[in-house]
Amino acid sequence: MERKNKTIGVVTGIISNLVIVKVDGPVAQNEICFIRHPENKLMAEVIKITGDNAYVQVFESTRGLKIGVQVEFENHLLEVSLGPGILSRNYDGLQNDLDKMDGVFLKRGDYTDPLNREKKWDWKPLAKKDDKVKAGSWLGEVPENGMPHRIMVPFKMDGEYTVKSVVPEGAYTVDDVVATVTDTDGNDIELTMVQKWPVKMAITAYNNKPRPFKLLETGIRTMDTLNPIVEGGTGFIPGPFGTGKTVLQHAISKFAEADIVIIAACGERANEVVEIFTEFPELEDPRTGRKLIERTTIIANTSNMPVAAREASVYTAMTLGEYYRSMGLKVLLMADSTSRWAQALREMSNRLEELPGPDGFPMDLTAIISGFYARAGFVYLNNGETGSITFIGTVSPAGGNLKEPVTESTRKAARCFYGLNQDRADSKRYPAIDPIDSYSKYLEYPEVQNYLMEHIGEGWLENVAKAKNLLLRGREAMEQINILGDDGVPLEFHERFWNSELIDGVILQQDSFDEVDANCPMPRQKYMLEKVLNVSEKKFAFENFEDLSNFFKRIINVLKQMNYSEWESDKLKKHEAELEEIMNERLN
Ligand code: ADP
Ligand code: MG
Repeated sequence: MERKNKTIGVVTGIISNLVIVKVDGPVAQNEICFIRHPENKLMAEVIKITGDNAYVQVFESTRGLKIGVQVEFENHLLEVSLGPGILSRNYDGLQNDLDKMDGVFLKRGDYTDPLNREKKWDWKPLAKKDDKVKAGSWLGEVPENGMPHRIMVPFKMDGEYTVKSVVPEGAYTVDDVVATVTDTDGNDIELTMVQKWPVKMAITAYNNKPRPFKLLETGIRTMDTLNPIVEGGTGFIPGPFGTGKTVLQHAISKFAEADIVIIAACGERANEVVEIFTEFPELEDPRTGRKLIERTTIIANTSNMPVAAREASVYTAMTLGEYYRSMGLKVLLMADSTSRWAQALREMSNRLEELPGPDGFPMDLTAIISGFYARAGFVYLNNGETGSITFIGTVSPAGGNLKEPVTESTRKAARCFYGLNQDRADSKRYPAIDPIDSYSKYLEYPEVQNYLMEHIGEGWLENVAKAKNLLLRGREAMEQINILGDDGVPLEFHERFWNSELIDGVILQQDSFDEVDANCPMPRQKYMLEKVLNVSEKKFAFENFEDLSNFFKRIINVLKQMNYSEWESDKLKKHEAELEEIMNERLN
């Protein structure tokens, strides 16, 4: 969108954060403009154009704004700055550095630089003179908190270029020229470590995006064992308030096999967001021994920020994810909660007086959500390397109703469903993921099945199917016992019920706050599943159902102790022997 002169407009209407601007020239959908507020300028985005009226959503409070004020259009869309120094930052949805602000909240009209302009980075060239390059090609790299941060040909540059020169190894700021490339017409273009990209457009500087197939270990048993997500996969966690969505996302952030973690803390209560800011910097990174925050970026918006800023935050987070994916890194992207994002869309849609869809959400809600989830994925870059964005969003369905529009739309977009169950949360069975309603569509992919059999073991999928079957049969048996009473059903029903309790207690339940149990690596998940199935397959002799339940409680207790014991420790071996002993008492 190249224009010689800036288009100018004048405010003709104000409906809360929606402002109507009469313009004197062309404007584009999603173009950024600045409203000349009496004290400072307010940033806004064009969301609708009719004739010479532009409807703009203002990213800040419009308090005190008056009709007749001048508006300047910027010739570009809402963009983020991409360069080294993004990790360990806390940004808002417009990439303002929250640490440069007073408290968590921006003063109106305050915009800060997202990057450090003074810092010098240790540059190492990767491209050389005469190399043919295009958008996304790696020119060099700098270490960013222990991660190789690749400096790339800007994604906006179309076509092919020839490298004319690359600066030698050394210390440079993000604004220093690090490479010069020549286009096919012979024009030289100087490149720095910084580029800009519009957040609502996907970065597609890769070769291809096949279906994802590699398991992404999260360390959470009920996910990895029963319904795994894959590198570049998508999943969502719907759950009523207080069922553990945030705790679960944080657990995943800590232990998942990702290089980079990006968290969009979106529209939750302000104190929850403050909690992340205080909690995350303290967390040890189990993978590097450094701090988790060093490979994390948090994009925060609280419910007291204007809706437009909330909407921008998920796109900003995704764009940062795409940037790091283009460097060949494994990115884990979390959004909590996407319902607040959808509510922002609803508010704007209502102000625009668009024809509403179900529950007042925009008619195209499903398309918007699907479009967003589709930006995740596993890619082969042009140089043959791979990168991925695994995306997991939470949904807070009003009243726990899974038929509401945001949950329904998200179900169409995401391949894994981790439904949090109120009853499980009430009885402190954490994580409260319902094992029977939840699913992973990836388990149906032959390439995922092959990957699992190759990397975890030949019999793995069979064992997983056995566990799921036991859970299902246990639930059925429990329903019968509830109807007919403990004495009204055969002993076998109790055995079925207790076998599912065994899987629940040992595999599904996991203590996020225990040092050992919080993270369960795959070899350990496999071992525990085998132990549990071994119990379920034995024929024990019982006098009556009380005898049977006491026996199972003892078994579950020992196996839980094993979950709490360090891997390959004496303590673990001791409990293992104990388990054998208890079982032997009852074997006939
Ligand atoms: P939500 O985000 O769904 O509203 P939270 O993630 O904030 O819910 O969890 C609410 C509370 O439930 C937590 O403060 C914690 O006490 C408890 N909780 C949730 N998940 C777990 C877990 N995995 N282990 C132990 N306690 C948990
Ligand atoms: Mg929460």
